Amino acid sequence: MTNYKPFMQAMLWTCKTCGFTYEGGQPKQNCPVCESYKTSFIDFPQHLEAQIREAHPDKSFNHQACRKMRMELMKEHGVTESFNVAGRVLPSVSGINSSPKNPA
Ligand SMILES: [Zn+2]
Repeated sequence: MTNYKPFMQAMLWTCKTCGFTYEGGQPKQNCPVCESYKTSFIDFPQHLEAQIREAHPDKSFNHQACRKMRMELMKEHGVTESFNVAGRVLPSVSGINSSPKNPA
């Protein structure tokens, strides 16, 4: 892992279906992009979000390229399986390394 440092306090609620993300304390009732119910939102790991920011520093938060990369990272890191959905207590971000479903 690179020298990741936290850059945001808020949760990064991310839609598993389309990659839409926003910062905030609570997930939205429905995804404004694909209309998935709020249980489709997960707390996206900030160290993965940091990779997206680095790859697309000139693009907006929910630019198509950023959402696409988010979807790829979620699949690559098994985020949708190892991270709890909205309404549940979230594990620490470091828990991703101990996930048995995380392919080595
Ligand atoms: Zn969505």
